[in-house]
Amino acid sequence: MTVLSFGVDAQDGNARCARVITARGSFRTPCFMPVGTRGTVRAIGVDDLERLGAEVVLANTYHLMLRPGAEVVAAHGGLHGFMGWAGHVLTDSGGFQVFSLQPDVDDDGVTFRSTYDGSTHRLTPEGAVAVQHALGADIQMVLDVCPSLPSPPEVVRLAVDRTARWAERAKGAHRRLWSAGSTQALFGIVQGGTDPALRQESAKRTVEIGFDGYGIGGLSVGEPRDEMLPALAAALEILPPDQPRYLMGVGDPVGLIEAIALGVDMFDCVLPTRLARHGTIFTGEGRINLRNQRFAKDPQPLDPSCACSVCARWSRAYLRHLLRVQEPSALRFLTLHNLHWFLALVQRARCAIAAGTLSALRAEIAAHWD
Ligand SMILES: [Zn+2]
Repeated sequence: MTVLSFGVDAQDGNARCARVITARGSFRTPCFMPVGTRGTVRAIGVDDLERLGAEVVLANTYHLMLRPGAEVVAAHGGLHGFMGWAGHVLTDSGGFQVFSLQPDVDDDGVTFRSTYDGSTHRLTPEGAVAVQHALGADIQMVLDVCPSLPSPPEVVRLAVDRTARWAERAKGAHRRLWSAGSTQALFGIVQGGTDPALRQESAKRTVEIGFDGYGIGGLSVGEPRDEMLPALAAALEILPPDQPRYLMGVGDPVGLIEAIALGVDMFDCVLPTRLARHGTIFTGEGRINLRNQRFAKDPQPLDPSCACSVCARWSRAYLRHLLRVQEPSALRFLTLHNLHWFLALVQRARCAIAAGTLSALRAEIAAHWD
């Protein structure tokens, strides 16, 4: 039994165009999930996300459990009530952020210090499920062990073993909430670094436990793409074709399109929003840096081929001016454009899969991006 279903509408090679149905409603895949780390996508509102057509937003367990605290969010109807967002919310388990803080890890869980005030906190597989339950996620992620790459083989091996043991405990905790009426879905996470054999082993062990969908974690953490894609492909071979697959944290245009071609359905990445705040703009011709002097008198929109509300109205020259004088509206406009660009890219991928022309889109993206 599952609280989530996945219906494939079209396929092009291994790529699929599908619909994920949850207790809340449904969303289309391949999908790009804007990152709302602290309960908002920085510089814009959830009303903007609705206008952009985003269907799923990612929220961060680590940050929200520290500020404002899961109990505060729960008291306001979970993230949907707190944020005023009727779409889907996926919460990460907090593992990725916690492991970037050099925490104390043992077989039972992980102890770390808050980046806000230095206070000590503990996260266990069961605790991560409980926090994400309180946050009211539609889709929860298990707590995993995410080593940076390159790491020695024994470190990657231990991460695979611990992730599998923790996944089993998370599943148990989730099952108890489920029998108490929870309708949240839970995704397992595949680890294994860049070793295809270890990726397959991790995928097998995760599938044996059984989840509503599968995340592939620990990629795009410093390794080259020609090591990432084979490791990803190895994991995808094992994952059930009738369930969603989520490549965590990967969202550069080439990585995203190549992963879609391999059969990935869901993506999140801070790249479009983070780069927007630094003036880096995604266009059909590749990225541009709006701070560059050559845009000072440029009357063109950010991307002449873009259909977003910002490109419909304002010039590069004007937006560059706002950025240079540090007007907060610049961050908002550039974020809106970059997110629109990514959401339009996955929409184009969905159309291309339905039309059987994904290879043409892959070639176009490869021609403009590295
Ligand atoms: Zn635009």
